[in-house]
Amino acid sequence: MKAFDATRVFFDAAAERLDLEPSVREMLLMPLRELQVQVSFERDNGEWATYVGYRVQHNKSRGPMKGGLRYHPDVDLDEVRALASLMTWKTAVVDLPYGGAKGGIGVDPKTLSTRELERLTRAFVDQIHDIVGPDTDIPAPDMGTDHRVMAWFRNQWEKYHGFNPSVITGKPVEEYGARGREEATGRGVGTLTTRLIKRLGRQASDSKVAIQGFGNVGSHAAKFLHEAQFPIVAVADVSGTYFDADGLNIPDLLRHTLNHPRRSLEGYDKCEVMPAESVLWLEEIDILIPAALGHVINGENCDAVSATVIIEAANEPLLPLADQRLTERGVTILPDILANAGGVTVSYFEWVQNRQHYRWTLDRVRQELEKTLSDAFEQVWQLSQQQKLSLRAAAYTLAITRVRRAAELAGWS
Ligand code: NAD
Repeated sequence: MKAFDATRVFFDAAAERLDLEPSVREMLLMPLRELQVQVSFERDNGEWATYVGYRVQHNKSRGPMKGGLRYHPDVDLDEVRALASLMTWKTAVVDLPYGGAKGGIGVDPKTLSTRELERLTRAFVDQIHDIVGPDTDIPAPDMGTDHRVMAWFRNQWEKYHGFNPSVITGKPVEEYGARGREEATGRGVGTLTTRLIKRLGRQASDSKVAIQGFGNVGSHAAKFLHEAQFPIVAVADVSGTYFDADGLNIPDLLRHTLNHPRRSLEGYDKCEVMPAESVLWLEEIDILIPAALGHVINGENCDAVSATVIIEAANEPLLPLADQRLTERGVTILPDILANAGGVTVSYFEWVQNRQHYRWTLDRVRQELEKTLSDAFEQVWQLSQQQKLSLRAAAYTLAITRVRRAAELAGWS
């Protein structure tokens, strides 16, 4: 199933429940603009390389469009379109004054030197600078991009349009970035997992966790959950699944990745090591947190999941059939549009600070993040209880209602 079709299934189910007219559904579903560009740059050896870049702007009813930039070989127009629409619903669920967008380049950044990555990014900005801006469309990091890429992006954009750091978020702290942005998505996953477990009447110390992905999101989620007394029995990255039934030493694992040239778990030998995919099918776990790739759990393999709670830290890790079967089995699924919204929330705080030329303390960022996510969680939880909906159905219902209302008030144009 293609990525946008999967997103559409979740949207359609909520639209049906809300009894939306077909014309309204079409307007809310179809992206406003899709741009595909050629990204060519000179490699270190003097040869020219060419890749395809994308920016999809999905909906701006609630404010300027917001969404990350992904550098990954699988990036294509369909995936970017799906991720852009998820951003519209995500910003609406947490009630940020934004619409949704997404961009990316179909490239493996690990095959490029740092200078090549910079030239690739600048070439991309040359192609798309006219359609992004602080009041129109504000990019941010996603898989394969980080604060350095954001700094190059801003620098290149400002060559055309002049000083305005609020054009992009996720920048280095020394370059108008926000304190706490890097940890925000993983920290948000931790906050929301803690809230959910409390609502389910369970104890953190009795809830064994497995996390797929130990990059930005997975590693910060592990740190937060470890501090909140959750036993983390497995973490995985591309190099394997690292397992200890009594709970892993997360600070030690974090130290290991910091000292590894590619920030990998590779070579960690103080626990059992299994193939990377095993993390999804472990029997001894209560909470599964996919925090790596999309579409890892589908209708065919979902029966092998034994966790009773799934936190979608990655975007679209479950395909619709898996979501349906697991929900029927009684598994509680916290959907991506809420579970990983911590990143865009602190991106919003960064944009606000940039516009005010004022800097918040790390404590303030953390407090406001906690409040924003906790409020959103409670609204979704209450709606799911009142209307007997899954958390995903409740989150989509809330998001679509908000976007539709804003569009209606503005007159749909
Ligand atoms: P990242 O590139 O920092 O880390 C990805 C991690 O996944 C790495 O540890 C990698 O080794 C691991 N991985 C890749 N393939 C794997 C496999 N087959 N098995 C096990 N592990 C594998 O990316 P990230 O920023 O942490 O993003 C992870 C997910 O979270 C993505 O779906 C992204 O869209 C989503 N997300 C990220 C943010 C953010 O702020 N970074 C915000 C919202 C959503």
